[in-house]
Amino acid sequence: MPTFANSEGVFKTALQLMPGGVNSPVRAWGAVGLSPRVIARGEGPRVYDVDGNSYLDYVGSWGPLILGHAHPRVVAAVQEAAARGTSFGAPTPGEAELARMLVEAVPSLEMVRLVNSGTEACMSALRLARGATGRPRVIKFDGCYHGHADSFLVAAGSGVLTQAIPGSPGVPAEIAGLTLSLPYNDLEAVEKALKQYPGEVAAIFVEPVAGNMGVVPPAPGFLEGLRRFCDNEGCLLVFDEVITGFRVAWGGAQSLYGIKPDLTCLGKIMGGGLPVGAYGGRRDLMGQMAPSGPVYQAGTLSGNPVAVAAGLATLEALQEPGIYESLEEKGAWLARELAAAAARQGVLVSVNRVGSMLTVFCTEGPISCLKEAKGSDLSRFQTFFQEMLAAGLYLAPSQFEAWFVSTAHQQGDLEYTVAAAERVWARTSGR
Ligand SMILES: *Cc1c(COP(=O)(O)O)cnc(C)c1O
Repeated sequence: MPTFANSEGVFKTALQLMPGGVNSPVRAWGAVGLSPRVIARGEGPRVYDVDGNSYLDYVGSWGPLILGHAHPRVVAAVQEAAARGTSFGAPTPGEAELARMLVEAVPSLEMVRLVNSGTEACMSALRLARGATGRPRVIKFDGCYHGHADSFLVAAGSGVLTQAIPGSPGVPAEIAGLTLSLPYNDLEAVEKALKQYPGEVAAIFVEPVAGNMGVVPPAPGFLEGLRRFCDNEGCLLVFDEVITGFRVAWGGAQSLYGIKPDLTCLGKIMGGGLPVGAYGGRRDLMGQMAPSGPVYQAGTLSGNPVAVAAGLATLEALQEPGIYESLEEKGAWLARELAAAAARQGVLVSVNRVGSMLTVFCTEGPISCLKEAKGSDLSRFQTFFQEMLAAGLYLAPSQFEAWFVSTAHQQGDLEYTVAAAERVWARTSGR
């Protein structure tokens, strides 16, 4: 062990003990040519590394921390819940309360099941879709990420994309072969695929706002078209709202765009920074899950009382009036001013945004699918990331991720961010 904690020392030790030194590949910072900062603590919109540096944080634990770090209400709820006992493997009152809150918030939810992660939510929803329809195939979209279950590691986004891994060894071809991955926002491709495999597609999985190839909004008519195809073909529409749920609106992207999926996957924000996920939807479908029905899925720690308390505290705080209006204003201001600053410095960027999630793509754009996102200048992104970090800004260490604005970010924080970006662009634009 190093004599005193510093990022380099801690990470050097971690490299000997954990693959890549991390417990999730996106944390490794390989794409930006640095080794990661080791975080000691967070407070509001900021994180502090073990070296004593402070950063304005736009990662927000990759989406969950919509209230910022260590929000007093969340911390108190966790402390109180933990003091009552950390797990019982038996029903607790908080689970039903959280389930009720989810069902009331998200338009298409009639019943839900709580799980421990977004990955679990998506893999369980897929099993249910297959069980309910008796069909084997699934359609997803290039650059969307639905967790790391076998069926979804085909042209996936997030870390898979950042590391340029096409699929993954360990996923049998027989399983990957049942997944059709199509270009996002391309209804013709969906129509063609459904024609090619009539009666074989169990579900279409989609991020209703893509966040794992960078932010890519649905084109007008795209989600409506998917709903129509699913109705005609008898397959299920599954919205993966693990990022967008309680992010782009209280009722998620489905309330923002007015489309009702058959099943919805949730995670991230609904756990308030603790490990939680959920999937749910139509009562007749959810009734097929064990023990009501034959489709099996279980979890020792599912609905964990401490995690549920963090989720409840977060969702309660989000119900205060004006929260989503304020997040929308902050997101809109930041996206607009970043684009304006880039334009002033003659730097080509394309800024995509929905609500409080946005991505600054280092390319002219527009960006409406993975192929276009991949046209970004990754070496320019790397420089931008490094310079922003030096200016005290903690961004996602990949071009293909979102920036998340939280309720803890103040106007002064946003102004500091834009000014820092403009200084970086002024220095690096080569003018
Ligand atoms: C993060 C994410 C997941 C996976 O959630 P984990 O909690 O990391 O397992 C699934 N779908 C989407 C859209 C996500 O952003």
